[in-house]
Amino acid sequence: MSPTPPSTSWPIPKLTYRIAEGDTEHPGVEIFLNAIKPEEALLKAVVANFEALYTREMLPNHIEEITLVLESIPGVAYLGDVMPSSSKQQIHYSLQYVQQTADRAADEIIGVLVFEIFHVYNRITNTTCPSGFIDGLADYVRLKAGYAPPHWDKQPRDDWEAGNESTAYFLDWIEKRPNGTGTIHKLYEYALQLNDQEFNENIFEMLTGETVDMLWEQYCDSVNGTDNTTTLGDLSQWPIPKFNLRIEDLDHEGADIFLGAVKPKEALREAVMASFNHLYTLQTVPRNVKTITLVLRSMGGVAHTTGGMSHKEIHYSLEYVKVKADVAREEIMGVLVHEVVHCYQHTAHGTCPGGLIEGIADYVRLRDGRAPAHWRQSSNGCWDAGYDTTGYFLDWIESNHESATISKLNALMKSCKYNEEILFKEVTWKSVNDLWSQYGDFLKAKEQKAEPMSVGQ
Ligand SMILES: [Zn+2]
Repeated sequence: MSPTPPSTSWPIPKLTYRIAEGDTEHPGVEIFLNAIKPEEALLKAVVANFEALYTREMLPNHIEEITLVLESIPGVAYLGDVMPSSSKQQIHYSLQYVQQTADRAADEIIGVLVFEIFHVYNRITNTTCPSGFIDGLADYVRLKAGYAPPHWDKQPRDDWEAGNESTAYFLDWIEKRPNGTGTIHKLYEYALQLNDQEFNENIFEMLTGETVDMLWEQYCDSVNGTDNTTTLGDLSQWPIPKFNLRIEDLDHEGADIFLGAVKPKEALREAVMASFNHLYTLQTVPRNVKTITLVLRSMGGVAHTTGGMSHKEIHYSLEYVKVKADVAREEIMGVLVHEVVHCYQHTAHGTCPGGLIEGIADYVRLRDGRAPAHWRQSSNGCWDAGYDTTGYFLDWIESNHESATISKLNALMKSCKYNEEILFKEVTWKSVNDLWSQYGDFLKAKEQKAEPMSVGQ
């Protein structure tokens, strides 16, 4: 499959490769070329960096050409000896290393290239910026794009700026917090625009409302299991269904884009785990779903879920995949998380209002750090308008009440008919109308506070 540029408006440089003189017979060459086309690996790595670190307005266009040189050298990879300011950059990749990692060649190649390309583009020159933070950002991109190598250690090291995967997992956790989407974009933007000012850790507080030390402490707790709302423990105990994939039109451009952006099995698994994580415990997780079939086909709309108790089908529009090509991976994952919620959620025997059903699905998408850029918090209209309106409202309820409030709300709808008064009072001691008006006050106060704190543009 040829690489599909995510968007023609993105400043993708010219991507080429060559094999170093005298190395054409090296066994690493064959392993590399069998695993992935070099241009495709480079493209994926460039796109991963663009998606993870830059807003549309900030996309860098100072690089015109990136050449990958496959070469017999020690180590893993390094940036070639061209001037750092040059618009043409070279990445030298060790053929020995290709051989050593042959069992997972494509993933490791893309993962390493993501890291190198971070450094190709990186223009943080301020020396007060902690080096562990910069290293951590590079590994964060790798993690976010789904190329974390199996040997990475999730255990947090000394402090937030310890670097590499330790900092990467921390940054990823920040991004996935409620309302956290876009935080790393802004953090990176801040670092880029420092010029001769000193790096100030207060930026974390400005962006998240909490100091970096508080965040680090919460993060360490969540990893070490003291905060059981964000960790699933032993994954093998969860009832992961069998996944099927059906593509009804392989000629459709959307099919290429889809398969270029995600690995279907891993994407579905991630989406299922998001549902389990935010709505269920091992005791409450529904065990009736045996298979989930993802159907990619030409149709109107975005996606929907059908099926009976044990076999679910998620139909996903190939036209929509194409429309969202510039944010393919993020949008696909977000939509899959939403649809998978429908595969499992309780609907009070069909009496739950549609707006709450959709709101819970988008609440999980939001909590999982997958809110799309256009979503807005709003307290206009009804609380059960659905989608992002209700999703953000539920998110606020969750943040301001006992943990797992929304998961309890969902659980209550397993066996009873829907009764708005009883339902919300049962889990929050307040009526939904009182909650909605409190939420309105909260948004107003937040708006007033936000003005002088804005960062970047
Ligand atoms: Zn839905």
